[in-house]
Amino acid sequence: MNSRDIRQSFIDFFRDRGHKPHPSAPLVPHGDPTLLFTNAGMVQFKNAFLGREEPPAPRVVTAQKCLRVSGKHNDLESVGPSPRHHTFFEMLGNFSFGDYFKEDAIRFAWELVTDAWGLPVEHLYATVFHDDDEAYDLWAKLSGLPESRILRCGEKDNFWAMGDVGPCGPCSELHIDLTPDRPAVDWEEGSESGRYLELWNLVFMQYDRDESGTLNPLPDPSIDTGAGLERLAAVLQGVESNYDTDLFVPILEAAGTVAKVPYGSSPEQDTSLRVIADHLRSVTFLLADGVIPGNEGRSYVLRRILRRAVRHGMRLGLEEPFLHRLVPVLGEVMGDAYPELAATREASVATIHTEEEKFLSTLASGSRQVQEEIEAARAKGLAELPGARAFWLYETHGLPVETIAEIAEEERMGFDRTGFDEALRRQQERSRQSAGEGKKRFAAMIRTVLEEGVDETRFEGYEHFALQGARVLRLAKEEGGRALAAAALGAGESGMVVLDATVFYAESGGQVADDGTITWEGGRARVTDVQKEAGVFLHLVEVEEGTLRQGETVDLEVAATVRRPTQRNHTATHLLHAALRDELGEGVRQAGSLVAPDRLRFDFTFHRPLEDGELRRIEDRVNDWVLRAVPTRIREMAYDEAVAEGAMALFGEKYGDRVRTVEVPGFSMELCGGCHVTNTGEIGLFVITSERGVASGVRRIEALTGHGAIAWARARDQRLSAVEEALGIAADRAVEEIESLKADLKERDKELSALRMKMVAGAAAGDDEGGPTDVDGILVLVREVPPAPAGELRNMADTLRSKLGSGVVVIGTREDGKVSLVAAVTEDLTGRVKAGGLVRELAGIVGGGGGGRPDFAQAGGKEPDKLPAALAAVPEAVRRQLGG
Ligand code: ATP
Ligand code: MG
Repeated sequence: MNSRDIRQSFIDFFRDRGHKPHPSAPLVPHGDPTLLFTNAGMVQFKNAFLGREEPPAPRVVTAQKCLRVSGKHNDLESVGPSPRHHTFFEMLGNFSFGDYFKEDAIRFAWELVTDAWGLPVEHLYATVFHDDDEAYDLWAKLSGLPESRILRCGEKDNFWAMGDVGPCGPCSELHIDLTPDRPAVDWEEGSESGRYLELWNLVFMQYDRDESGTLNPLPDPSIDTGAGLERLAAVLQGVESNYDTDLFVPILEAAGTVAKVPYGSSPEQDTSLRVIADHLRSVTFLLADGVIPGNEGRSYVLRRILRRAVRHGMRLGLEEPFLHRLVPVLGEVMGDAYPELAATREASVATIHTEEEKFLSTLASGSRQVQEEIEAARAKGLAELPGARAFWLYETHGLPVETIAEIAEEERMGFDRTGFDEALRRQQERSRQSAGEGKKRFAAMIRTVLEEGVDETRFEGYEHFALQGARVLRLAKEEGGRALAAAALGAGESGMVVLDATVFYAESGGQVADDGTITWEGGRARVTDVQKEAGVFLHLVEVEEGTLRQGETVDLEVAATVRRPTQRNHTATHLLHAALRDELGEGVRQAGSLVAPDRLRFDFTFHRPLEDGELRRIEDRVNDWVLRAVPTRIREMAYDEAVAEGAMALFGEKYGDRVRTVEVPGFSMELCGGCHVTNTGEIGLFVITSERGVASGVRRIEALTGHGAIAWARARDQRLSAVEEALGIAADRAVEEIESLKADLKERDKELSALRMKMVAGAAAGDDEGGPTDVDGILVLVREVPPAPAGELRNMADTLRSKLGSGVVVIGTREDGKVSLVAAVTEDLTGRVKAGGLVRELAGIVGGGGGGRPDFAQAGGKEPDKLPAALAAVPEAVRRQLGG
């Protein structure tokens, strides 16, 4: 059975038993600030388990993309050495939402594994949570496993939790003995060594753990299971490790070919090849789900994984970018199950390639920087490279800590690893906090208002800006850093409000939240932010007057000054997206977007800067659709139907069965829950104000519409008028005029410089005051010269020196509180007088420093008043040098 068959047979098996097949959620969990990445099949159903959201069906089956590289589940360090841990893997799972419980879950798993897949009963083990007698008895009854192969285990392995808070429960695992012919060993030993391989975990989801660690029973006990596809493939294909299955062999072969080190050459090299194959999968799938490499949060994790793969490539002797070349191979292996791979291939290849190049050049220049830090530490008499300095190298130059440690070792210098780890821990803390900051601040209040269950908010904001007679369902506020349910919010207080209906749009899909007011008999509050969780709108308000009470009837009004321009920008964003794809090709993919009242920002994948002509054509195309004044068409329909009609769905977004489509007929159709104009003509005008790169392979366009675009154009026009006025010439000839003024200026500069040179050169011939004097038989020429650019000063000194034939030249100049000194000594005298020593001494007088070669040196200072004194001191200084 190849991996495709295994995936499919799992889904078919559960479909036959009443489960609805459901697509994998993206690796980036939707609207969950507590989790960086989807790390299990149940993540997308978290709200359904908590009873806050309808599940897609009472019984569901999925194959879910998972990533375990951070937080509670982090397998990064095991990858490579472990034959059964990956960063990215697929978890097959069946779910029951308050439908069946332990008995069916166990029965199904047993049936599939032994009957359908035919794994030998005598090689299997089951484990249960130590006090879960019910599960124990069920295994004994349903599987017929002997008691010696049903084991009671502790919390570490048999109590499952997604994270520190959220749904959790006792679990029961199915294991297989990989070497059944050998005598059985102690359970601990067998599972540690990998002999007893965990295949499938059945979680009996019974609790919701809150921040204080309390286990609150869930409304309906449920089932969540997870079986790793890679491990199943290894077992069913009868191979030793996950890496010997059809999921990995083609990738390992390709990597081996690129590195000219076939898989199987040596244990160390095999580890590196496995790391590369594994990381290729996580990097490519993360990119496909819209994560881009960067320095914070998820982006930073992606960058680290990618760099780890590159480092392992270097161990294999790969000095050139290589990882991007493997992307198409992954497409061949997993492309049919995950169409996002094909859709994003070009962009991913480009992004990975650029990242690789950047990293390799960082490493090249980085090793020099490490050397410098080591020397600096030595100069201070330190025995080890301080952790803080190493972290600085790591953070600002992206140098891997291993590289830093290696170089230190070569240099026979210690390395303060503890200090480094501490600095790293603090940085991670910061990065964790920055992920989902906005929502997180309110997370506790959100939990409070949702705790007792509250109906989804009816949203009427698409059609109306105002709504009369909404009811206040719940209130919460923060007190002393804790969130509390509140019966009322008094004047001057802020807090969170849940209503039965609203017109305020909650921040999502890049569109900012609405502002506005809530009024009631004798009171008024300002809405400052709106978030959404499981269909419930959470309004953050500041009460300005009166008291807002639970049960109050209120009137709502969205600030049209915020909403109307936001709608223009949102529809314009769709037009821009469509125009980009028309102009640059279908490979262009949205990587992020911000729709605010005063601007729009659109990030997309593309491998090079856009040319002026392209930008103009894109702008024209959008404006063309604005001028056609096309009515927008907004509909609700089934997801499949929308996609069949050609609606653009964004990878990395989670969509339900019913979706909303926003269409500018004939040009753009997207799945979108945002607010839009009713006619493209409302946009008025669209201008692109900037285009630049924001990450490897990602470009950013900023643009304006409506009043903003008009104001922008007017401001430019006003600046142009000011230019016309200053030049005294019409704008159409301004450029010509400026060019000619610039040319004139350059000419004058040249003339001035020649004049200065002539003046100064005269002095050398002695036809002016201040000619050369004789100092102990050496000609010394000292001169204050007019201010001139540094290059010219050097030329002057050079010219004077050659006029002198043999002697010493010192010139100085001052301007704007600065002093410059140049000393030049003819070749024949450098053995006796050193220019460097000379200027160093003089620089002291003018409050500065400097130095240089024996024949030529420069210095600067900050005390112009002292220049004459410094110049007067030259003969003495020369004498001292001669004497010394
Ligand atoms: P292990 O103890 O082997 O690390 P786990 O207890 O972390 O596994 P669960 O969280 O129960 O695993 O996940 C369910 C299933 O997903 C496991 O039974 C296993 O088949 C698979 N799995 C878990 N982690 C990984 C991983 N890093 N790589 C591949 N498969 C995994
Ligand atoms: Mg684990």
